[in-house]
Amino acid sequence: MTQNLKHFIEGAHAEASDGARMRLVSPVDEQEYGSAARGTAEDVDRAVAAAHAQLEGGTWSRLHAGQRAQLLLRLADLVERDTALLADMDANAIGRSPMEPRMMDVPNAVANLRAAAGWTQQLEGRTVPTGGYMGTPTLSYTLREPVGVVGAIVPWNSPLMITVWKLAALLAAGCTVVIKPAEETPQSALHLARLAQEAGFPDGVINVVTGFGDVVGRALCEHPLVAKISFTGSPEAGRAIQRIAAPLFKRVTLELGGKSPQIVFDDASFDDALRGCAMGLFVNQGQVCAAGSRILVQRSLAKPFAQALAEAARAVTVGDPRQAGVQMGPVAKKAQFERVNRYIQLGQDEGAVLLAGGVSRPEKGWFVQPTIFAEATNQMTIAREEIFGPVGTVIPFDTEEEAIALANDSSYGLAATVWTTQLARAHRVAARVKAGAVGVNCWSPLDANLPWGGLKTSGIGREGGLPGALAYTEEKVVTVLLPA
Ligand code: NAD
Repeated sequence: MTQNLKHFIEGAHAEASDGARMRLVSPVDEQEYGSAARGTAEDVDRAVAAAHAQLEGGTWSRLHAGQRAQLLLRLADLVERDTALLADMDANAIGRSPMEPRMMDVPNAVANLRAAAGWTQQLEGRTVPTGGYMGTPTLSYTLREPVGVVGAIVPWNSPLMITVWKLAALLAAGCTVVIKPAEETPQSALHLARLAQEAGFPDGVINVVTGFGDVVGRALCEHPLVAKISFTGSPEAGRAIQRIAAPLFKRVTLELGGKSPQIVFDDASFDDALRGCAMGLFVNQGQVCAAGSRILVQRSLAKPFAQALAEAARAVTVGDPRQAGVQMGPVAKKAQFERVNRYIQLGQDEGAVLLAGGVSRPEKGWFVQPTIFAEATNQMTIAREEIFGPVGTVIPFDTEEEAIALANDSSYGLAATVWTTQLARAHRVAARVKAGAVGVNCWSPLDANLPWGGLKTSGIGREGGLPGALAYTEEKVVTVLLPA
């Protein structure tokens, strides 16, 4: 079915101001299946104006926390009702198996919206003991106020879930938003905005402008009425956003990439570690920011573990993810296909041992075979740069100290996994690994109430939980003079 998508501004669908459109292409057969409005700076301006009006005396600005909570709960129910539809939208757009978003992304989004209903009630101010004012006692308290209009810029890999991470928290805080979905995946954000309207959110609170990053994304970053940019995507785009936002003093949250280590000690449960490492490499074709793509394995285990991982890679059935029995679809876009193959070639050129997969040359569709490299070093490009595809690199280590050093020898610091049955070792390593999140005997656990975000090149700030909602507020101090 041909899709003909438009922006969603102030509760209504709208074409781009100049009528321009962008193509939507299936990664399975490279066929065009529709198009979406190609947004302009003018479209962004209209959407921001609508969002701003809701904050400045609009219906939204007059709702109390309990009413916002009720709307969030209604939206959660509607997203849950449309689980299959939303999962199919995200899956079809990037060639992912629909079972993954059905089981993971959509339930996670629903949980976030429900948790956010609770956060609305917890965004409290404080009373602060002070020394008074020029000899007169005072009462000082703080208020938590919404930061303002947020520009939410989202990538294509888990579009609904990442959009909702931002949306749930900013709505809990009382902000309004203009969402810019990735150019490949505008469907679920647009449906979410329609569901918000059905839930009873006032028009203008949630707006969606589709289009390209260097036009729509850039216009959001430059817009004087946008107070905060919440971005998830590549470090390159994150840098560009920082450069625009810095002189304008905009608040910025950046969720960027990773090169996350999975540390497998020789005391680990072999089978559990194997399953967890395979999952951390192959879910969503490896297009996951927390992908555990650096597999550090204690030397005595390194060879059999790499062989078993290679076997697991070979056992994955790659093809059209809508067909029964297929476990892995194509990567999301042509640029991604070329990028992943470039890294696979580079791994071989640098001397890593290719145990499974390799450079892919399908006749049609952007399919990449799950690929495992062994006997690699942490200095190789495939161990240092984010590939964002189903490619794992096994690197041997000798001691716990060396494992920690290797794990931390990265420009990224998003997530890490420790596989061990020794309790003390688990806590020792978790404490010393430089990452925003560490899983012990479980790869990348996500929960609406857990903060998510990274160190170093992996980004700035956290999403999730109450701290994630607080990040969409400003704390204002009120001081009242109390003369006798
Ligand atoms: P990308 O940075 O090119 O695109 C992400 C979004 O930013 C898109 O909506 C795009 O249109 C927009 N954009 C691009 N350039 C922009 C600019 N100059 N100004 C404003 N907006 C701009 O990322 P990608 O390559 O499409 O996505 C993959 C990357 O995202 C990977 O590096 C991955 O690790 C990262 N990612 C991180 C997380 C996380 O939670 N940390 C989650 C998903 C993806």
